[in-house]
Amino acid sequence: MAKRDYYDVLGVAKGASADDIKKAYRKMAIKYHPDKNQGDKEAEEKFKEAAEAYEVLSSPEKRQRYDQFGHAANASSANGGGYGGGGMNMDDIFSQFGDIFGGGSPFEGFFGGGRQSGGGGRRVARGSNLRIKVRLTLEEIANGAEKKIKVNKQIICKTCDGSGAKDKSSFQTCKTCGGSGAVRRVTNTILGQMQTTSTCPTCNGEGSTILSKCTVCHGDGVVRGEELITIQVPAGVSEGMQLSMSGKGNAAPRGGVPGDLIILIEEVPHETLKRDGNNVIFDLHVNFIDATLGTSVEVPTIDGKVKIKIDPGTQGGKILRLKGKGLPEVNSYHRGDQLVHINIWTPKALSREEREILEKLQNSPNFKPNPGKNEKSFFERMKEYFE
Ligand SMILES: [Zn+2]
Ligand SMILES: [Zn+2]
Repeated sequence: MAKRDYYDVLGVAKGASADDIKKAYRKMAIKYHPDKNQGDKEAEEKFKEAAEAYEVLSSPEKRQRYDQFGHAANASSANGGGYGGGGMNMDDIFSQFGDIFGGGSPFEGFFGGGRQSGGGGRRVARGSNLRIKVRLTLEEIANGAEKKIKVNKQIICKTCDGSGAKDKSSFQTCKTCGGSGAVRRVTNTILGQMQTTSTCPTCNGEGSTILSKCTVCHGDGVVRGEELITIQVPAGVSEGMQLSMSGKGNAAPRGGVPGDLIILIEEVPHETLKRDGNNVIFDLHVNFIDATLGTSVEVPTIDGKVKIKIDPGTQGGKILRLKGKGLPEVNSYHRGDQLVHINIWTPKALSREEREILEKLQNSPNFKPNPGKNEKSFFERMKEYFE
């Protein structure tokens, strides 16, 4: 593929000043930065292309040669990378950023996270995420809960304070990088020397190596341990929901960033109440005499027992709605209802006396089922139920 003109790539005129070139590149680098365009191949290509153009045009010497010979100089170069362009990897590109944005980690301010490995500096270790399950009763879900949980995880080694070294004198300046944490590679090209920087492979960018390791953690800087963690569970959570506590996962050695604690919510089934979204369902059984004569009964709710009235002549299948006796929604003041589903209980065994009384009533005119037009059908009740 033919290379585009470097001036076109950066969108500047041939005679542009060094300052204009820098400004134009800064704009492109922000626009096509991989942290902002994750997975976007085209943006990545643009990002690399701009870096290559800047690499050449920012150097007075390279720019002069480019102006004179154009891309033609490329073909005769020893490593095929020419101006260093085609061969530039991401680490090389990020190492450029120091002088365009000023400071070592230029993208921290722009994109929040920053790029720890950029510029061949110190590589920051990150602890892994940790997953735990928390079981909650319906009452705890209704009110929100504070749970103190002992978590078995990687913690910082107290003996070496996470450094992994036996003592302070155990550190030795890295021989590969001389303590800078970065290694420079100089390549000779037809256009002069090209310099690239990457993280030192010997010390992993830390600038020092450990002569004698901590005897407790064997140089890891972390050990297996326990931590008592207080988890604030908001009201209204449900089975399968995940909460995350940043930095409460496994520790990372040598001043690294700890992972996150991921909390998976599990519901302990309630003895009598069933959950349906934010509503709570209770199956109430009344015998046909109570349903006929009317009565008042106590029903359980998540806030404790509540007395409800059963009207005389109540039919089986009726649903009573206790407003606001359900569960709250997460981060909302809205609360669901409790639905009391009335079932008529029919006795299964009778004494002789009971049987005689009922037989007297059996053919009584008022005991003959007579639903009439005003009685709600099963279908209508179900509709009411779900509204
Ligand atoms: Zn090193
Ligand atoms: Zn240790």
